Amino acid sequence: MKRTIPFNKPCVLDDSLSFICKALDNQKLCGNGQFTQKCQSFFEETYGFKKTLLTTSCTDALEMAAMLCDIKHGDEVIVPSYTFVSTALAFVRQGAKIVFADSDKDTPNLDVDKLEMLITDRTVAIVPVHYAGVSVDMDKLMHLAKKYNLWVIEDAAQAIDATYKGQPLGKFGHLACFSFHETKNITAGEGGLLVVNDDRLLRRSEIIWEKGTNRSEFFRGEVNKYGWVDTGSSFLPSELNAAFLYSQLIHIEEIQKKRITLWQRYYDNLNIEDVIDKIKLPYIPSYASNNAHMFYLVCKTGNLRTKLINYLKEHNVHATFHYLCLHDSEFARKQNWNSSDIINAVRYSDCLIRLPLFYDLSLGDVDYISKLIINFLNKNE
Ligand SMILES: *Cc1c(COP(=O)(O)O)cnc(C)c1O
Repeated sequence: MKRTIPFNKPCVLDDSLSFICKALDNQKLCGNGQFTQKCQSFFEETYGFKKTLLTTSCTDALEMAAMLCDIKHGDEVIVPSYTFVSTALAFVRQGAKIVFADSDKDTPNLDVDKLEMLITDRTVAIVPVHYAGVSVDMDKLMHLAKKYNLWVIEDAAQAIDATYKGQPLGKFGHLACFSFHETKNITAGEGGLLVVNDDRLLRRSEIIWEKGTNRSEFFRGEVNKYGWVDTGSSFLPSELNAAFLYSQLIHIEEIQKKRITLWQRYYDNLNIEDVIDKIKLPYIPSYASNNAHMFYLVCKTGNLRTKLINYLKEHNVHATFHYLCLHDSEFARKQNWNSSDIINAVRYSDCLIRLPLFYDLSLGDVDYISKLIINFLNKNE
């Protein structure tokens, strides 16, 4: 019998439903209830984040970040070209001009060594993306940010439970944004988190979160009525989503252990001469940990990548490419944002393939997929 291995299957644990039922029993389903607070406390206690706010998506958390940094028309924001649309779009909505950074030679992350030449008098923020949960070199990046007085917003969408020099990602920027989309390690279906590390942004972050009102202060009994005090929007997820998310958070160690075992099995299976002659395995710099968000390969050519995806598909294995470079998108082209040499990002866009990796995948599945890849490469010299 031919089995089908999907690219992703969202993680649903046995006791998830009982948490959702508990939220229903609480008869408080809107945002900022018991489960939202349990999730936020979990992040603050586990990772030492100063303040966290659960959001409906990482995109929303990025939009909150753009509002908090008061990004205005004409401000320049540096974003990698090899990332998801939201990393740039959240800032564009505030009127920013995007300056695209190329990827590093060794990882799809932005090349920190080429960052300084992108900084101008109008630059106000840098948005590093920790691709595949592998950290950007944050010491170098924060040094530049300090030198030029720039905001740093970590797009840590893929980086839950990952570290840089032993410190959790999300702790380095003034702000950081995580995603709990169904494709991420920990999921709420749709969901996100804003991390506020900078004292200056603490109060305003809850106001923007709560539709421009000081409702959070009222909720804590600090004021006797609440009203409209600033800009904002509706960024709170329902308690149903928070309850589902919380059911995974309490099992995060087990989820991560499983994913790392699967990731390592791919790596060990494919780290053989026949493969690494033709395909590059992921590189994890010594300063970064691996949260096993993704297992990707970089083929020598785009043609080889397409053939490999098709070959796997013929064998009912769904592997997939990833980002199309943002600097080359229809939207970016219309803006006349001049982008400098972007070479590595284009290579990742053309040649990178992501393999199935999810909680329910088995080691047998990983061995099967690895064998298919080895067979394919032996046929395609
Ligand atoms: C998933 C992802 C996002 C968007 O997350 P949502 O929760 O779907 O809004 C943004 N940036 C990166 C790098 C991502 O991987």
